[in-house]
Amino acid sequence: MNNKERSFLKLLSKHGMKNPIIFDAGKSFYTQDENNVIKSISESIEEILKKMSQARGIAPYISAFCLHDEAVNAFCFIDDAHYYIAIHSGTYVELFRRSQRLSDYIADNGIAGYTEKDRIRLLVSIWNYAFKMILAHEYMHIILGHCDLSNKPSLLLWEAKNDLYECEAMHDRLYRHALEMFADEFAAMDMTRQVLANTGESIDELKKELLVFYLAIVLKFSIFDDNVPFNERHHPRPRVRLYYIAAAIDETIGKSMEMMTEDVNCLLFAVNSIWDDVLAIIHRFQDLFSGDLLRSWLDINVNEEYLEIYNAASVVVKDANKFALWPIDEYASLDMDALLQAIIEEKGLLSEAAASGLSFEEANDLLDRRNL
Ligand SMILES: [Zn+2]
Repeated sequence: MNNKERSFLKLLSKHGMKNPIIFDAGKSFYTQDENNVIKSISESIEEILKKMSQARGIAPYISAFCLHDEAVNAFCFIDDAHYYIAIHSGTYVELFRRSQRLSDYIADNGIAGYTEKDRIRLLVSIWNYAFKMILAHEYMHIILGHCDLSNKPSLLLWEAKNDLYECEAMHDRLYRHALEMFADEFAAMDMTRQVLANTGESIDELKKELLVFYLAIVLKFSIFDDNVPFNERHHPRPRVRLYYIAAAIDETIGKSMEMMTEDVNCLLFAVNSIWDDVLAIIHRFQDLFSGDLLRSWLDINVNEEYLEIYNAASVVVKDANKFALWPIDEYASLDMDALLQAIIEEKGLLSEAAASGLSFEEANDLLDRRNL
């Protein structure tokens, strides 16, 4: 253990964490592959973070550590103008094991045009996207000013411990959910740009890569949802998170394609047809995914929960922007009733379509034609 790790542990202990341990491959019971994954990613985390900051022209001082803990979790906080990110070893291992099963299944069954030859590439991609979504989520909490919402100089062990909230507003469920929504959305936008950079010109290629990206996202939400019982106190449930993340992904793809609006819509419909594959895989591997993802996607509560969070978020932006290294646009809250009515109508059409045996793609085509 080096000095940096030693002082990090002291810091955690000082703020109430019991017996934190830095991950040490020599003392772990993981397989060689699993130890190697943790080791290699740990070595590159700070470099990845640095690049994310350089791209924005900011330079926050961030240190990242892997804690030896089987519970799936990641958290961040500020202490003395220095930001810290900690990820539990159980997070990497759980993600790696599930990514292996998924990539084998996709390669063995020729899903979305992948073949046996893609097995390793699939594993690396799913694991990488999922891991980077976790890292980017914590990074966004930092640069969007969320960690600084605690009463300085006291420390906010973000997401690590419920009883350490220092900020009055943090005790409000919707306020916390809104913070999580921002971290999720901005992480998704960053990662979507990477997906686009990894993809060639063709829509088919983009669809293949997006399938892997979406699976990585649902896998990430699932490992947190399954393993951290207090998680729902901080985060919206997986289907709500996916709902706004899918919108953020679509928006990023739309913006990056310099086309007429109509063309972008066509493209997004084509791309979204991968949802049939994603949902089929979630149902095929029910033990890999959170129970919430197996429930109906036409559930109106998902939309209601999203709109509640969205409306809480307009207050959150004002608070967080006071500290943010990367302030975001403020916005007004929405008229919930009118929006819900529109969503209910759309859902009615989609569920009618589903009842008559149409796929997601066909149902959306139908919806599109009705809206014209
Ligand atoms: Zn978070």
